[in-house]
Amino acid sequence: MRTLLRLKLLMSEVRWTMWQNRSSSNSSIRSLESNTSILKHLISKITATGPISVAEYMREALTNPVAGYYVKNDMLGAGGDFITSPEISQIFGELLGVWCVSEWMAAGKSCTFQLVELGPGRGSLASDILRVFSQLKAVLGETDISVHLVEVSPKLSQFQAECLTGDKTQTCNDDQLAYRSGTTRTGLPIYWYRRIEDVPRGFSVFLAHEFFDALPIHKFQRTEKGWREVMVDIDPESPEKLRFVVSHSPTLASSILIQNDDRRQHVEVCPEGGVIVQKLANRIAEDGGSALVVDYGHDGTKTDTFRGFKGHQLHNVLEAPGMADLTADVDFSYLRKMTGNEVTCLGPVTQRSFLKNMGIDSRLQVLLRNCHDPSARAQLIHSYDMLINPEKMGLRFQFFSVLNRGRLAQYRGMQKNTAPVAGFAELDMQ
Ligand code: SAH
Repeated sequence: MRTLLRLKLLMSEVRWTMWQNRSSSNSSIRSLESNTSILKHLISKITATGPISVAEYMREALTNPVAGYYVKNDMLGAGGDFITSPEISQIFGELLGVWCVSEWMAAGKSCTFQLVELGPGRGSLASDILRVFSQLKAVLGETDISVHLVEVSPKLSQFQAECLTGDKTQTCNDDQLAYRSGTTRTGLPIYWYRRIEDVPRGFSVFLAHEFFDALPIHKFQRTEKGWREVMVDIDPESPEKLRFVVSHSPTLASSILIQNDDRRQHVEVCPEGGVIVQKLANRIAEDGGSALVVDYGHDGTKTDTFRGFKGHQLHNVLEAPGMADLTADVDFSYLRKMTGNEVTCLGPVTQRSFLKNMGIDSRLQVLLRNCHDPSARAQLIHSYDMLINPEKMGLRFQFFSVLNRGRLAQYRGMQKNTAPVAGFAELDMQ
């Protein structure tokens, strides 16, 4: 607890960049042409080989290299399809920055420190974290810090490069694992990759904010004949449209992804999320470090959560693939199971309790003290409320962490929810 208290005191002495309404600066670059190419591609594929899994549908709609939703659009902010916590307030990223430094300290102050973010969107979270790193230079000392972004979207990687480096980046050769590299505005080396396995090994703090919910899920329905996979087919009434069908016979996915003891009628499984969290866990076990996964989700209890968003409104998931965000709640119990026995998992805890434990209230007071413009003050209070109000994002978003087993070894026997990991336990400010 003492570490976090010290970091917070250091932060409170610093005068920060004042809060800015990030969403209003959103220069929308969304493609205006009607995007029917993915729909056409899927219809010819289904005509040729039969219904496809929901996972395949979701993968094509979101990350098809030519017309996928993430590949073509800037979907974040007021002018986009959804808004995320780092886009709402700088406080969010600042508190996560303090979390990263406090975990690095608690893990023994490794002399190299990789900050790895999966799906960094517009780069706002990383930018706020890097500002914290600069302010905490005295704590980080001569540590060899580098930044590694895993981003599938060329368009968003450009936004990230602009935000984090002022666009001082270069494209890497094909024989390199990174596809882009540069130097951050704060002077740190930064690299972009398409896959987590391309990130170099070494002590790392991994962050994934609203990343796992964008990964493809398989859907299964309990039937009289047993579990069957829900597939996407062409609507026979209207050959330009798609519809869901339940597979007559078991598929490979329905035979291997369902737990025998599952009691739900409908289940969603995200094997890609499972593989990625497994890779994070292996690295954390072998190289040291930790991961923080933040998303909306459940603990293996929810059923049908697959949905679409367009222009901040719910959108039919099978309509206009590639033009709307598709998402499914993250099953944290599945992620926990996939991490295996070589790491320790904490959470999920709600965003409200994580941010309160990290000291969001005192951070807000510091910002308000330094801010005299009435409309900026009102915005600060409004964005704070968005983040922690139980009716808004406070209870919907969950924080889940994967830690190296050594991290909590000295606290063996202590209940996990009182273990001294920043954000997951209430701060003892004495
Ligand atoms: N973390 C950001 C953005 C969330 S949107 C925020 O909270 O504001 C999801 C992000 O994940 C986008 O940057 C998207 O391009 C990226 N993404 C989606 N699927 C991916 C995949 N399979 N591999 C790498 N990045 C992916």
